[in-house]
Amino acid sequence: MSGWNDLLAELDAWSAAGHTATFWWRDDDARSGTPELQRLLGLADKHGVPLALSVVPVTADKTLARVLEDQDRATVLQHGYSHQNHAAPGDLKTEFGQTRPYPFTLGDMATGWQRIEALFDGRALAVMVPPWNRIAPAIVPMLPEIGYVGLSTWKPRKRQRPCQGLHQINTHVDIIEWRGSREFLGTDDAISAVLKHLEARREGRVDSGEPTGLLTHHLEHDEDCWMFVDRLLAVTTTHPATAWQNPRDLFAPLRKEAA
Ligand SMILES: [Zn+2]
Repeated sequence: MSGWNDLLAELDAWSAAGHTATFWWRDDDARSGTPELQRLLGLADKHGVPLALSVVPVTADKTLARVLEDQDRATVLQHGYSHQNHAAPGDLKTEFGQTRPYPFTLGDMATGWQRIEALFDGRALAVMVPPWNRIAPAIVPMLPEIGYVGLSTWKPRKRQRPCQGLHQINTHVDIIEWRGSREFLGTDDAISAVLKHLEARREGRVDSGEPTGLLTHHLEHDEDCWMFVDRLLAVTTTHPATAWQNPRDLFAPLRKEAA
């Protein structure tokens, strides 16, 4: 069982060690300027926390672009192309697997980036967030060749740079129970996921330089999801050992912005 006091104790341990517990926030599958999106942006504003919205190029519309126009806190990342599953029957879902010819995959990615660039202007970063957090390892080295500076998936990264020219920053805390109810994971389990990554970083079992990534899906949130995010942001932003980082700064060393 893990509760908010356990999280505070862990953050105190970071303070005592003189380190900053860095976090970042990625929200997936944004499509339109919906009330749910407004609620998400409202939470980011309330707590002064920057937010990366991973957007599916094919389903994104102008209402999303319009809402983000005057939102300095939000940065757009590219979430695949159409969020379509191209896996072989029986395999785990993926848009960018190894069975589809790579030229099709790379073509989709590049076409998708053009749409992101056209819709979101300077608000987008050339960072690929593959749907279902899956991408065939053989495709990764091709990403910088077609202009990407970043990659974001799931679980602690193995390397900061999976190949030359590419910066990887993953997410570690998914608040939805996808395999069961598709509802909120529960406070205990969600806090446990935060603690698991923070402890592993502090003890050097994973890359301690990778910020702990909160992963949300605003179109899927039930009320408990919203309440948890609100509380997590409140607890962490008021603790002196914590810093929520801006994706623009995180991917800055190799940043390529939309024109
Ligand atoms: Zn997705």
